[in-house]
Amino acid sequence: MGKARVKGFSGVFLKLINLTIVVCVMSLITDIALTKDDRPITLLNAAVTRSQGSTNKQSANSESNIKQPVKWEIVRMRVTAYCPCPKCCGEYSDGVTACGYRIQPGDTFVAADGQYGFGTEMLIPGYSNSRPVKVLDRGGAIRGNRLDVFFGSHDQALEWGVKYLDVKVRCE
Ligand SMILES: [Zn+2]
Repeated sequence: MGKARVKGFSGVFLKLINLTIVVCVMSLITDIALTKDDRPITLLNAAVTRSQGSTNKQSANSESNIKQPVKWEIVRMRVTAYCPCPKCCGEYSDGVTACGYRIQPGDTFVAADGQYGFGTEMLIPGYSNSRPVKVLDRGGAIRGNRLDVFFGSHDQALEWGVKYLDVKVRCE
């Protein structure tokens, strides 16, 4: 019986050990599970930090964009039109503008006063689908707030006539 009691005791003891082992294993598993849970959180935090970093970079970029905005000055201009024909250009009807640009079919550009450098962008309402065009030419009568918009044919230039428009002039 003594042996049996010992057996019984050892049985309980073994059960206790088993329980301890089970608890240990379970706590290990829980630890692993927690560690596994922690990792994604850490990664998530890192990802959030990274995305915040990129957001900061983006905002920094937009800040630098804000520092150099495209500024348009609105100038009331008397806008006439011309074409490359001798009637419009006289001795300068060689297909090359005052800045040395060789005129191509379908070109849209403008002749302006010397105060507007070659390449200055201007948005003239109703001309070139109201997209900005560049100053590529000069004209004897084109002084001050006068412009001459370019057309491929004399008829188109005549059709334009004379307009007084609020022209947007791009200033850097
Ligand atoms: Zn003409």
